[in-house]
Amino acid sequence: MNLHEYQARALLRHAGIPVPDGDVADTPAGVEAIARRLGGGVVVKAQVHTGGRGKAGGVKLAADPAEARRVAEQILALTIKGLPVRKVLVAPVAEIASESYVGIILDRETQRPVFMVSAAGGVDIEEVAATTPEKIVKLAVDPRYGLLPHEATTLGFALYRDVKQVRAAARIMEQLYRAFMESGATLAEINPLVTTPAGEVVALDAKISIDDNELERRPDLAALRDPTAEAPSEVQAREAGLTFIKLDGNVGCVVNGAGLSMATMDLVKYYGGEPANFLDIGGSSNPEKVVNALRIITADPSVRAILFNIFGGITRTDDVANGIVAAMQRFPVPVPIVIRLTGTNEREAVRILEAVGMTALNDMDEAVQQVVALAKEAA
Ligand code: GDP
Ligand code: MN
Repeated sequence: MNLHEYQARALLRHAGIPVPDGDVADTPAGVEAIARRLGGGVVVKAQVHTGGRGKAGGVKLAADPAEARRVAEQILALTIKGLPVRKVLVAPVAEIASESYVGIILDRETQRPVFMVSAAGGVDIEEVAATTPEKIVKLAVDPRYGLLPHEATTLGFALYRDVKQVRAAARIMEQLYRAFMESGATLAEINPLVTTPAGEVVALDAKISIDDNELERRPDLAALRDPTAEAPSEVQAREAGLTFIKLDGNVGCVVNGAGLSMATMDLVKYYGGEPANFLDIGGSSNPEKVVNALRIITADPSVRAILFNIFGGITRTDDVANGIVAAMQRFPVPVPIVIRLTGTNEREAVRILEAVGMTALNDMDEAVQQVVALAKEAA
């Protein structure tokens, strides 16, 4: 679950990290009122779950409340990477002398939180990672001991020369690490961490992702979820009990089991296609799940063809076949469907599909090749 910047800022502030004051609004008039209360220049920032807002026109400075209102009108009308802007953060503008990057990710390979810091921060950290990875300093933390003082100092020296700033940064590293661990985050990022002309070190942007498995025991964090800011397909899928992740390709995928789902996406890519989603209908046998899955996938305009890959065990393939038939009776499915199924009640499933003029394949490679070809034809 991703937090909004304003929520992440509050968490960091609570951890003791210097973060400018600020407030959120969802109307230009609300923005103007906050700007008046703060006094002086402000920055108005789109609150959407994606980076690169600056480049997309979602972060703008305003000298006075009237201008803040005008830029808020523009920003609240934006859609950034498919996400409509519904809220903006208004904060006093900070003067920037330097911008650096500080992040912690949960590295599943080493099973450790890994710090990544770079003096080349700001908006282009992805580019830094791609072209000059040596400018990013990495440090894996042993969770048994936490971030040790000398490690925090090392990270501080990776960013600054001035000893006061190094100390300030080291302290921020320790606070960020604690916030990361205590919130069950998979990612905590400050970009930019700036120095001001007066020499202060301040966090101007914050991004935190919480592990969904943490939410059960952290109702306070779960309450921060903003369904209006998530992709509508992901919200529907969560409500329908499906594990769904929207991706960028055009081959819709309906699979049972996380492992088979991942293998299926690999195979789609192997045969030159791009999956439009990850969708695991789970182990239970319920035609309604299949109907919901198809409803969500067909609502995605980039989907050109749909692949079913079902390995019948606890999931009965006849239930899946019934779900497909039911879906096609209830709403239009405007793209071709390729069905591969095998296992429990397979013969029954084939009969159900053939009765409505559909066919089922048995071979996974063949099915994936077919659906990739169909998606390419229609693209
Ligand atoms: P992102 O593009 O989504 O990562 O949004 P950021 O919050 O990181 O803002 C992008 C850029 O806008 C930053 O790297 C800064 O250069 C600039 N910016 C953001 N807040 C301020 C501010 O308070 N003062 C100034 N001068 N620039 C800011
Ligand atoms: Mn940023």
